[in-house]
Amino acid sequence: MAKYKLEYLWLDGYTPVANLRGKTQIKEFSSFPKLEELDWWGFDGSSTRQAEGKSSDCMLKPVAVFPDAGRKGNCAIVMCEVYMPDKKTPHPSNTRAGIADDPGTWFGFEQEYFFWKDGLPLGFPTGGYPAPQGPYYTGVGYNNVGNLAREIVDEHLDLCLAAGINHEGINAEVAKGQWEFQIFGKGSKKAADEMWVARYLLARLCEKYCVDINWHCKPLGMELDWNGSGMHANFSTTHMREVGGEPYFKALMAAFDKHKEEHIAVYGPDNHLRLTGLHETQSIDKFNYGLADRGASVRVPHSFVNNGYKGYLEDRRPNSQGDPYAIAGRIVKTIQTVPTK
Ligand code: ADP
Ligand code: MN
Ligand code: MN
Ligand code: MN
Repeated sequence: MAKYKLEYLWLDGYTPVANLRGKTQIKEFSSFPKLEELDWWGFDGSSTRQAEGKSSDCMLKPVAVFPDAGRKGNCAIVMCEVYMPDKKTPHPSNTRAGIADDPGTWFGFEQEYFFWKDGLPLGFPTGGYPAPQGPYYTGVGYNNVGNLAREIVDEHLDLCLAAGINHEGINAEVAKGQWEFQIFGKGSKKAADEMWVARYLLARLCEKYCVDINWHCKPLGMELDWNGSGMHANFSTTHMREVGGEPYFKALMAAFDKHKEEHIAVYGPDNHLRLTGLHETQSIDKFNYGLADRGASVRVPHSFVNNGYKGYLEDRRPNSQGDPYAIAGRIVKTIQTVPTK
């Protein structure tokens, strides 16, 4: 038997954006614990906006477990859902429990974010601005990316890979101090669990560098010429990959248009600051799609059309602070309204 450090993670009750919370439990296992071997745990919900002080217990139900290479010894991250004390009723803040899921629906999330230090994007001079956008996206050199960001994004990649997370890539983004990573997963819950754990690993890693992550979708405001942060949701179903066809595609896009308000409602707060029609976005109140069009709500890759309207689509509207459970769940729900024959 060996002692394991188990970091139980959950989402708190803050709105409009939940924060990640975590606490450690030590337990003995003969080998890396399987999900079924992990017990429920509890926490003080009155400190996380999830309960009143006089009846403060909330319950943690383990739903996914990941090796944690970021700590010494035998360590795991235990992603949890929050339940009421009866262990049957999902807590109102639990956005994972009830979402539409389907293992045949695959998601690729592109998480954009800013490194943030002393109230500014990492690399911004105090009291001024760096050179305008242009050279930063996928850029190289100290003047473009500084001397710290690359070390952090690479260490984050290694932590994700060690955790078994399907991290697929990294790029420096359009604004200075802005970066992106991509996570791919099969099924709403799996893809979203991995995104939340990847966000956790990044925020935790940054502690030792005295840097924070600013997840807001427009941290420099909408007046200035600096890009916002999205979390593009690329998605495909078994039907889209294997059957596809233009009529089905058109029906699917009509359903996305019909439900555009329900989508925007879960695509992250303050999205009106980001979805303006500028900076590679469509305005928040419009829905459209376009071939290779980065100014559209949904971008249709060339490969999709060339393969007979088969493959994946990119919903560009979700923002960097969106809850991937709610986003993936909403996409599956809209897809389910469209008949496949
Ligand atoms: P871009 O920056 O050009 O929009 P990225 O390479 O950053 O593109 O992201 C593309 C995303 O598409 C990746 O997250 C990848 O996992 C995802 N993706 C690729 N194929 C599929 C598919 N069949 N279903 C769902 N997502 C997919
Ligand atoms: Mn990308
Ligand atoms: Mn991007
Ligand atoms: Mn994209």
